Formats: sequence, structure tokens, C-alpha cells
Amino acid sequence: MKRTVKTTVTIVGGGPVGLLLAMDLAWRGIEVVVAERRSAGEPPSVKCNHTSSRTMEIFRRLGFADKARKAGLPDDYPNDVVIRTRATGYELTRIHIPCRTDRFTDKSGPDGWWPTPEPPHRINQLFLEPAIFEHATSMRGLTILNRTDVEDVSQDEDGVTATARDLDSGEIFEIRSRYLVGCDGGPSKIRKIIGAKLEGDAVIQRVQSSYIRAPKLLGMIKGKRAWMSYLYNPERAGNLIAIDGKETWLVHNYLLRHEPDFDSVDRYACIRTLLGVDDDFEFEVLGEEDWIGRRLVADRFRDRRLFICGDSAHLWVPYAGYGMNAGIADAMNLSWQLAAYLEGWAPEAILDAYQRERQPITEQVSRFAMRHAEGAIKERTSVPPEIEDDSPEGDAVRKRVGKEAYRLHVQQFACAGLNYGYFYDDSSLIAYDGEKAPGYTMYDYAPSTVPGCRTPHIWLEDGRSLYDAIGRDYTLLRFDPTIDVTPLTNAAKKRGVPLKVLDIPSADLPEPYTTKLLLSRPDQHVAWRGDVLPDDALGLIDLIRGAAPKT
Ligand SMILES: Cc1cc2nc3c(=O)[nH]c(=O)nc-3n(C[C@H](O)[C@H](O)[C@H](O)COP(=O)(O)OP(=O)(O)OC[C@H]3O[C@@H](n4cnc5c(N)ncnc54)[C@H](O)[C@@H]3O)c2cc1C
Repeated sequence: MKRTVKTTVTIVGGGPVGLLLAMDLAWRGIEVVVAERRSAGEPPSVKCNHTSSRTMEIFRRLGFADKARKAGLPDDYPNDVVIRTRATGYELTRIHIPCRTDRFTDKSGPDGWWPTPEPPHRINQLFLEPAIFEHATSMRGLTILNRTDVEDVSQDEDGVTATARDLDSGEIFEIRSRYLVGCDGGPSKIRKIIGAKLEGDAVIQRVQSSYIRAPKLLGMIKGKRAWMSYLYNPERAGNLIAIDGKETWLVHNYLLRHEPDFDSVDRYACIRTLLGVDDDFEFEVLGEEDWIGRRLVADRFRDRRLFICGDSAHLWVPYAGYGMNAGIADAMNLSWQLAAYLEGWAPEAILDAYQRERQPITEQVSRFAMRHAEGAIKERTSVPPEIEDDSPEGDAVRKRVGKEAYRLHVQQFACAGLNYGYFYDDSSLIAYDGEKAPGYTMYDYAPSTVPGCRTPHIWLEDGRSLYDAIGRDYTLLRFDPTIDVTPLTNAAKKRGVPLKVLDIPSADLPEPYTTKLLLSRPDQHVAWRGDVLPDDALGLIDLIRGAAPKT
């Protein structure tokens, strides 16, 4: 007889998305088991370098933001992005992003105005994942089975059985649960099991990436340090990212059109060209991480008791640093809906909202990222030959290219729209009122209380962040304490829907709030707003818990 591990939700894959989903479910009181091939706390390869503000807001709810912010680059290391001809060459432009020490006080950069308690954080996945892992292991109800490979999954009317292999002992055992979520990355087995197909553009760019140790490089770079440097010269284009802020770096070498595959170029020679160093310069390649930039979104995110999240559901070029961050946003959407059903206050129909809400958003983000990639490819393949000339003409060219590069790249490095702008405009769980949500781009964002938008962040009079004051579940924000909201709280009680009332007395409604009442969902999106309660309070409660007649 095979051993069986029993739980409520199984998560296949303990990357950033799987672990965040597990943490949020456990925080909501749902028992969860994560099966992960890697050993306990084993870092991934160097990939993601940007933890978005929205992700940091999620970390804050889970009590993990401070730990995440402490990890990564040294305190005083500028998070700036620069465009240079070569790492040791001319600087063309600089996008200012404050270092950790100044992150909460320096508002001079293009993201300084953002309405959030948690600005973004530049940290490589190499440091972030072990920190997430450590926090996850401290949570009650969350079990991580490391060195465990899920080989197969089947579902029946009552639950899901995952067949797993202990990679050390070879033992085959089963994990039995009510639901299973595949957070198993790009090659996802669960995506194949649910019969989902990736649709989109299979190849946008090929990038030969090397993780290097070069202890002398920092001292050879002229001017102020930077977290990320785009490198454009007439020979090659690439990107250099500071990993530990001392001696380790990630170098992306963008293959040119006539270089069809990774073996067609000399890795070491390309690195020297991009860094602008000669053959005597010493460096060591610690890892090779070659990848193909794509734009692919799965045509379905669910088959009955099986879901997919993160890279298993979508893959795209990492412009704006929005692969992991979009995956974590998926996980937060699915988590509260699963918990609502498993806690018994929502019907199973609530689970239909996950795909209906998230799929259009991931499609949209994938197109933003691809459009940006196209702009960047055009930019780096049309570098003027005079760009490195030590002459007034060379100065003029560098100034012009730098100006254009700033305009293009500030959109991805200060991507307020990607962080906060997305809204759910066709959800069965949201009470729409006819007003259209403001459009957004990667960069542009206008805070709004239109149902479906992110509940706009404000600072409360007592200095607290609104997000620290609102509850884990539904929160009714009441700006006028004289309004009697008992019909709604009674209706919620009748259906078992956890709902907290938060009074925010203020003479004038704080911008951008326009109504005296606003119902915020467990994932901090607006479910309903108004100056008075609707006549049918029970109808509103049924709608937001997925029990309204289908539309
Ligand atoms: C060069 C590069 C730069 C990037 N930069 C950024 C960035 O700045 N910001 C950003 O948001 N994203 C970025 N990304 C994307 C980001 O790295 C991914 O989106 C992110 O890792 C996805 O997380 P995930 O948890 O969905 O999948 P993964 O990180 O791939 O994790 C999947 C996990 O599942 C495990 N697994 C797989 N199959 C099984 C199985 N059968 N049984 C058990 N375990 C299994 C794997 O071991 C792995 O740990 C970048 C990617 C690249 C390549």
C-alpha cells in the first residue's frame, strides 16, 4: 500500500508563485501541502530582479515585507537604471530609483509619487526565494515536501490524487486533497494534464545570459553605481544587472537577427564586448541561463479541481519585470476565492471567477511587455555608429539616444499601470455601476474606485496605511459613521460572509474616493460602492460571494 499524505490544497511547485499561494492560503486558515523538486531553501537560478510594489503590498499583509526588503543589494546601492555604451563606457541617461536607505524618503524619482505603503524593491530571485521559503516554513498549516516530484495527477468527484516520488529514497507516495494548483513553471506538467494550450508568439528574442563573478568590474565603471545598465554599442547590445552589489553580475547578451541560436556566438567574447574590457580582464562564469523571450498565455486556467498559476499559465519577455509579479497576482486572486469556498461561505461557482478575471489581465500584460520588447529591439538594433566618438558629434548622438531611451524605459521601470492599474471589468463577483474604469498603460495609472479597480491606497489620520487597517476578508469602508450599515452586516452574517466595517471619518472624502461607502474584496479590489446601501443588501452579498444568477 502506498503512503498517502492528506491535505486540503496541494500545490505543485514551490517557486515564488507556489510559495506565495501557499502562504496566503495558510494565512486564511486553509491547510496546504507544497511539493517541490528542489531541496529545502535551494536557490533558483538568477532570473527575476524586480519585486513590484503590488507584490510588496502582498508581502506586507503576510508579514514578510521587511524581511524581503532587507535582502539583496547593500543599503546604499542605487537602484538606478542607466543606458551606457559599454559597462565601462559612456553613460547616456539615468532613471533614478532610490537605494534601500532612501526608499521611503526620496520622492524625486519617477515612482516617487506612487500611492502605496510599499514601493518596489530590486532584489534577485536568488536572494528572494530562500527568504520566502524561510517565512513559509514558519507558517502553521503549511507543509513543504522538498525533493518531491509530482509525476501524475488524477481527479474524481471528491478530490485530487497526486502521485509523487521522493527524489532521495525513490519512494512513490500519494498526496490527496480537495484541490490542486499547478505552480510548476514554464514546462508545467499540470498545464498539460488539464489540456491547456499556450497561445501567442513563440519567439520574440533570444538572450544568452551569464551569471558572472568579476571582482574588478565595479571599480572600472565610471560615475555613480547602478542596479541595471542597458549596454548599446554598434557591435552588440546587452544588459548588466548588479546581483550582490560587489562582485557578481548577470549579463544578458541579446542575440542579433543573423545569430539564430545560442551556440552561434562566443559567450566570453560577447561578454568582453559588452563590458568594454580586453582579454586580460578576469571573470568567471558561475552559471549559464540562456532563454527565449515569448508571449504565451494558456487558453484555460482550470479543469474542475485543477488550476494553474504563474509561469505555468503564462510566459512572456521579462520587460518591466512582470513575470513573477503577475504570477503572484494570479495566486492572490485564486487564494481568497478557494478559501471562500472551502470555508463554506461561497458556492463552488465562485471558482469560475479566477479564469474570468485573470486571463484577460495576463493577456493584456503580455501585450504590454511584447510592445515594449519591440520598441527596445528597434532601439538597440539602430545604434548610430558615432555613439562612441569622443567628439561634439558623438556627444550630440549620445544625448539624443539617451533622451529617447529614457522616454522608452521609464515606462517599464516606473510601471505604475502594471502595478495598480489593472481592473476586472467582467466579473461575476463585482457590482458594476455603469462608470468605466480609467484606462491604463504600463506607465500610466489613475487611482479609481470604479468597481473592479484596486481599492485605492490612502494614509489614515492616525498615520496607518489603509491596507494595514482593512481586514483579511471583505471590508466595508465607511466615510460617514452616521450611515446605518446593519442591513449589509446582517445580510453578510446570514450568509456567513466575513465582513468588517472600517470607519474612516473625514469631513471631505479623501481623493480619489467619491462615495461614502465602499466594499473592498479580500484581494483589495473594489466589489461595490455607493452613498447608501442598496435596497437588496442580501442580493449584494449573494453577488459578491458568487451566488447570484449567472450573467
Ligand atoms: C532572465 C529573466 C529575468 C526575469 N526577470 C523578472 C523580473 O524582474 N520580474 C519578474 O516578475 N519576473 C521576472 N522573470 C520571470 C520570473 O523568473 C518567473 O516568472 C518566475 O520564476 C515564475 O515563478 P513560478 O513560481 O510561476 O515558476 P518557477 O519559478 O519556474 O517555479 C516552478 C517550480 O516548480 C517546481 N516544479 C516543476 N515541476 C514540478 C513537479 N512535477 N513536481 C514538483 N515540483 C515541480 C520547480 O522545481 C520550480 O521550483 C524573469 C525571467 C527570466 C528568465
